[in-house]
Amino acid sequence: MNPIIETTPARSLNFLEEIVEADLASGKYKSIITRFPPEPNGYLHIGHAKSICLNFGLAKKYGGKTNLRFDDTNPTKEDVEYVDSIKDDVRWLGFEWAAERYASDYFQQLYEWAVKLITKGLAYVDDQTQDEIRIGRGTVTRAGTESPYRNRSVEENLDLFTRMKNGECKDGEKVLRAKIDMAHPNMLLRDPILYRILHAEHHRTGNEWCIYPMYDYAHGQSDSIENITHSICTLEFDVHRPLYDWFIEKLEIFPSHQYEFARLNLTYTVMSKRKLLELVKNNYVSGWDDPRMPTICGIRRRGYTPESIRLFAEKVGVAKRDNMIDLSLLEWCVREDLNKRADRYLAVLNPVKVVITNYPEGQVDEVTAVNNPENEDAGIRKIPFSREIYIEQDDFMENPPKKYFRLSPGNEVRLRYAYIIKCEEVIKDADGNITEIHCTYDPATRSGNDTSGKKVKGTIHWVSAAHAATAEVRLFDRLFTEACMDDIPNDKDYKDFLNPNSLQAIKAYIEPALKTLPPSTNVQFERLGYFVTDKDSAAELPVFNRTVTLKDTWAKVAEKG
Ligand code: ATP
Ligand code: MG
Repeated sequence: MNPIIETTPARSLNFLEEIVEADLASGKYKSIITRFPPEPNGYLHIGHAKSICLNFGLAKKYGGKTNLRFDDTNPTKEDVEYVDSIKDDVRWLGFEWAAERYASDYFQQLYEWAVKLITKGLAYVDDQTQDEIRIGRGTVTRAGTESPYRNRSVEENLDLFTRMKNGECKDGEKVLRAKIDMAHPNMLLRDPILYRILHAEHHRTGNEWCIYPMYDYAHGQSDSIENITHSICTLEFDVHRPLYDWFIEKLEIFPSHQYEFARLNLTYTVMSKRKLLELVKNNYVSGWDDPRMPTICGIRRRGYTPESIRLFAEKVGVAKRDNMIDLSLLEWCVREDLNKRADRYLAVLNPVKVVITNYPEGQVDEVTAVNNPENEDAGIRKIPFSREIYIEQDDFMENPPKKYFRLSPGNEVRLRYAYIIKCEEVIKDADGNITEIHCTYDPATRSGNDTSGKKVKGTIHWVSAAHAATAEVRLFDRLFTEACMDDIPNDKDYKDFLNPNSLQAIKAYIEPALKTLPPSTNVQFERLGYFVTDKDSAAELPVFNRTVTLKDTWAKVAEKG
C-alpha cells in the first residue's frame, strides 16, 4: 500500500482525490503526473487559478509532479507576452512546474503519428471546403454523409499529406481527417479534422510548419508524451473524451486519462479571454492588470495574496456540475488572510478638520500604536499627534440619531491610540458647510495611560494635519452590475452591464508611516478596509488600492432591501 494513503487524515476527499488514491492503491501508477495546459492567447484569470491550484495541488498532495504545458497550436492568436505572464502568474500563486513544455515541441511527433494513422487506414486527406465539411457532418438527429475523398488509397493520402506539409497547398485547400464514423452519435467522432493548412508564423517554430494540429489531435497525445496520468479539464470537454481515448488506442501510446470538473463561475464577473481582451483593447479598463479585472495579475494588483487565492480554490472545492460562486467568498478569503498579515494604519478618506483648542500650539505628542493585534512580531510604532487633526466626515454628525456613538456637539469620543475629545463648537462657512470642528481634549485620557476613569462608546481614527501626507486612494466596486453574466438576455451585450461606478479615485490623508511603504504592501486602514500600495505610487504621491472593505457592504445593502 502506498504510504501517503496511510498518513492521509480521515476527511472527505473530492472525487479526483478518490480516483488518485484508488489508482495509487491498486498500483496502477507509482506516482502521478498532472499538467496545466493554458493556451498562450491571453492572461490567466481566477478560473485558471482554480485549475492551477487543482492540478498542482493534487500532485503536491500525492507526491507527484505537474508540467506547465503551453497549448500553442494556434499560431495566429498566440504570443510570447502571454507565455511570460502565465509563468509569472503560476509562480506567484506559489507553484513550480516539473517541466515547461509546449505542444509545438511535439509537432514532429504528432506529424509522424498522423502518418501512422494514414498508414493504418484511419486518416485521409479531404479536399472539401469548410462549408462542405460542415454540412456533411450532419446534425444531432441526422447522420452525416461521407466525403467523396474518404476512400482515397493510403499511398495517395501519404502523398497528399506530404504535399500539405511541404507547403504545396494553400490555406483551407485540404485538411487531414480521422476516418471514424460519419453516423456516430457523438458528432465529434464524425471524421474529425486533425490538421489544417495555415501559412502563418508560429511564435516558437517560426515558418517551419504550415500545417497545424487541431486541439483534439494535439491535446491527448501531448498528455501521452508526457506520461500524464490524470489529465484534468473542464466539463465541456467530456464529449471530447471518446476522441481523446480513440487516438490513444489507435496509436498505441501511453494511456493518459481525462477527467472533467466544473469550471469556476463567479458572480459579477466575465471570464472568457475574448471578452477580457475586448475590455482591455477598448479601454474599458486600464489594462490586463487593472485591479477590477478577474485576471490573476489584476487580482494581485488589487492586493489579493497567493494564500487567499489558494484558500479560495480550496473552499470552492471540486464539483462535477456547473455552479456559480459568489464573489463574496473570494472577498471573505482575502479578509481571512490579510487579517493575519496586514499591519494596521490610520488614514482618512473624506476629511474634515478638527482643532483641539486646549492643546498647545506647536506641541507634538507621539502616541503608540500596535501594528497588528493578530501578530505580536509586527511590533509597535509611534504616530504624531498635534493640535489640528483630520477625521472622517462620517464620524461627525451635527444632529445625530440615538445610538450614534461618534462625534457630535457636546459629546465625547476616543481618538484611536490617543485621547478622548469633546466637541465644543462647529464652524461653518457662509454656505453653511462645516469647515472646522472645535474640540477640547482631556490629557488624563491618553491611551495606555488613562487615569480619568471616563468611558466612551465610540473610537474613531484620525491623522495629524501637520504630519499627514496626501495619497491617492482608489476605491473599486464590481465591474459588472449583473450577478449572472452568463444569463444576460440575447439582445444585450455583456458590456451593457458594465458598472459605471466601478472606480473612484480620491485624495486622502495618510499617517506618515504610510508614505514610504514598498510596492505591493498589504495594509489595513483601520475601520476602512484592506489596501495595497499600487505600482503607480511615487514619492510625491503614494497610491493605494482598496482590496476589500472590512465587512461585506453589499450583504448589508441586500439585507436592507
Ligand atoms: P477561453 O476563455 O479562450 O475559452 P480557456 O479558459 O479554455 O480559454 P485555456 O488556456 O485553454 O483557456 O485554459 C487552460 C486551463 O484552464 C484548461 O485546462 C481549462 O480547463 C482551465 N480553465 C479555464 N477556465 C476555467 C475556469 N473558469 N474554471 C476552471 N478551470 C478553467
Ligand atoms: Mg481553451
